[in-house]
Amino acid sequence: IEPRLVTARASVITPRLTLVVIRDITEAERVEEMRRDFVANTSHELKTPVGAVSLLAEAVASAADDPDQVRHFAARLGAEATRLAQLTSRIMNLSRLQAADDLTDLRDVSVDEVVAAAIESQALAAESAGIEIVRGGSRGSYVRGDVQVLTEALSNLVANAVSYSPAGAQVGVGVKVEDNVVDIAVTDRGIGIPEAEQHRVFERFYRADQARSRRTGGTGLGLSIVKYAVQRHGGEVVLWSRPGRGSTFTVRLPAVEGPEGLDDVKKKRK
Ligand code: ADP
Repeated sequence: IEPRLVTARASVITPRLTLVVIRDITEAERVEEMRRDFVANTSHELKTPVGAVSLLAEAVASAADDPDQVRHFAARLGAEATRLAQLTSRIMNLSRLQAADDLTDLRDVSVDEVVAAAIESQALAAESAGIEIVRGGSRGSYVRGDVQVLTEALSNLVANAVSYSPAGAQVGVGVKVEDNVVDIAVTDRGIGIPEAEQHRVFERFYRADQARSRRTGGTGLGLSIVKYAVQRHGGEVVLWSRPGRGSTFTVRLPAVEGPEGLDDVKKKRK
């Protein structure tokens, strides 16, 4: 619907209604455009691994007489299938986060638990890359949110910090609470991100340097998931980075007193 047409029609009724109708349509159009883009991007991104899976399946079939070749292609087929599974699960998570409905499983979440789970999820990858993850900063803070969504977001940041760091480097995860805001900073001394690309890395499927990124086998969806996850919690992600020096991604979330009922317990004790 042409917004101007609606204005004309609605203003006959009441000027206040006009405003509401226009805003609704703009929002609906924005969501529809985002959905169209998302479907187009996603179909495009799925074509490559799906194509690889069918080619490798053919290769396995035609190498049937040579067990070594069969093993080789089967292993590659397995790796592509794993990648495809990771990609589809990230696409689902992202589309869920982008949908207009609210997060359902809200509770007071211990930041310490989220940080520990995120570090744990990347412990194996860090170990095989010879990287040490160091937890620093304060303890005992809480945010209101969905523990799974927050853990996935932070895990993505830790995973990137590990992927884009050289062997033997340290990755830091630090927590700071100030003015009722919890800052969770993930710092690496890795390759860094050029300034011109810093705002783009949060876009869906965007990967800063194609050749360099491909080596790490990412999807280009990790940071979009982080961005939406944090936004859905009323927070923001701040990025500091210098090529060759490293990056710090800081997740800023409103702090809550938590855990639920603690206040009541304290009051009863008094
Ligand atoms: P990917 O799966 O490619 O890592 P992300 O959405 O997580 O996708 O990140 C998008 C791009 O941002 C990456 O491809 C990489 O180029 C860049 N990037 C993300 N995190 C870092 C980091 N800690 N250091 C350097 N570059 C990074």
